[in-house]
Amino acid sequence: MKYDFNRQCFLESQHEAEKAAVIGSDSAVSWKELARQVDQLTQLFGELAIPKGHPVMIYGHKESAFPVAMLACYHADITYIPIDIVYPIERIRKIAETTGSQVLICTSELQPDVDFSVVIDRHFNPTIHHTPVFPEVETDHAEDILQYIIFTSGSTGEPKGVQITKSSIQTFVNWASVDFGFSGNDVLMNQAPFSFDVSLCDVLNAFVRGATLVLSSGEQVKDQNGFLNRLAETGCSVWTSTPSFLYLFLRHENFHAGNLPAINTFLFMGEELPNRTCGLLKQLFPEARILNAYGPTEATIVTTLIEITEEIIRDYPLLPIGYAMPGSTLLIDKSDHEAKEGELIIVGNHVSIGYYKRPELNAEKFFLHNGKRAFRTGDLAYFEGDLLFCLGRNDDQVKLHGYRIELNEISTILCKHKGVSDAVSIALKRGNEVKKIISFVIPSSETNHPTREELSAFLAEQLPYYMVPGDVALIADFPYNSNHKIDKNQLTEKYLKRQFINA
Ligand code: AMP
Repeated sequence: MKYDFNRQCFLESQHEAEKAAVIGSDSAVSWKELARQVDQLTQLFGELAIPKGHPVMIYGHKESAFPVAMLACYHADITYIPIDIVYPIERIRKIAETTGSQVLICTSELQPDVDFSVVIDRHFNPTIHHTPVFPEVETDHAEDILQYIIFTSGSTGEPKGVQITKSSIQTFVNWASVDFGFSGNDVLMNQAPFSFDVSLCDVLNAFVRGATLVLSSGEQVKDQNGFLNRLAETGCSVWTSTPSFLYLFLRHENFHAGNLPAINTFLFMGEELPNRTCGLLKQLFPEARILNAYGPTEATIVTTLIEITEEIIRDYPLLPIGYAMPGSTLLIDKSDHEAKEGELIIVGNHVSIGYYKRPELNAEKFFLHNGKRAFRTGDLAYFEGDLLFCLGRNDDQVKLHGYRIELNEISTILCKHKGVSDAVSIALKRGNEVKKIISFVIPSSETNHPTREELSAFLAEQLPYYMVPGDVALIADFPYNSNHKIDKNQLTEKYLKRQFINA
């Protein structure tokens, strides 16, 4: 069996109905059971009369019910917001408030302490706390269903909701189902939290091909031997992750083709894939394909793809990020016409309709190019022929351990603490790789300083753990450069020389 994303139906095949569709961290679901559960949820959505465009929140981690619920939302034309348990309660509350979401599908055993009219549990049984009053949905894209909203770090201190429509997903799936080269026999590993679209890539690829999806929880991954055994036992054939996730295993004694013989593909996305990493991986898994994919959440998972062959590793110290998805256009916006690089602009049907209720930001980042949606990525890129290369960011967005972080979001939240007069955050790097985030804080009182533990705890109440900086340094004043901007190089130096109050 498999799922047809264009016609929104299961394509039946009796002899494969008992095959596992999803092996979750808790339980497994066969293809037949997947179709039944999708049908059950679709009926429930109908009974609840959820209006078009009203977002349902799906909260959980790696339970099998999570991707089942996502597929049901797709099947029933219901908008959803995926929320992983790593999000602190304040952030969930903020997202629920911003979107007015009335319905929660909770696939985790523990429910977040946020008020929803209807809560649907992981067996898809509803509890109606009060009759839902659905706020009116304003949309200028009524002809295309808003399928999901993924909230990502926002530089103003508020997470921003990337809105992706059904036709964008179809555009991605129609490309990926062919060019990624997966088959119905594949077993796809899935470990990234569902609140990031890296994880959606495996889900869509598994469902469209009629393959098997294996979800592993954070706890299961932490037990590295156990995790590698799980991949071996389930016959995992496709490894999808950020390069950072791979680093956790690259030097593990059981991480090689002899122990994981079924792995035929490594698919990387989300951050720069270093050349050296590919060289090491080729030694460990000589027969496996290495794919490098690039793209922001704002353009539905990924936009470019390339197989990194031995020749490419030999010829390109900076690995290419690939060729554009057919039907998309990639433009380089150069401020300096002599330079080969400039800001990459992605144009195509898979580009988001914009951030949820953020008209000013949308005006800055999105526009129409020849009648098609276009997004300014903030990535510096250049072409060699039709092969694209990425040099990094032109702003303060960073990736730490594969997670997307706006440094300014951390500083803005810090400034809400009563003991903080001003704050700025910097990324300490080795080469292109971010190693640690440091926040510098000017205390509001000269004598009564907040401690770094107090400030970190304050941040952890509002931000996911991966956004809490590695250190908080107190400083009397920020250094400025000749352009009257905070001098981040000097701040780095001060940190490394331990020149701050609480050193
Ligand atoms: P996200 O929206 O979390 O997927 O993050 C998108 C950003 O991650 C891009 O705008 C790039 O800055 C970076 N990125 C994603 N994939 C790659 C890649 N293959 N190589 C280099 N940078 C990447």
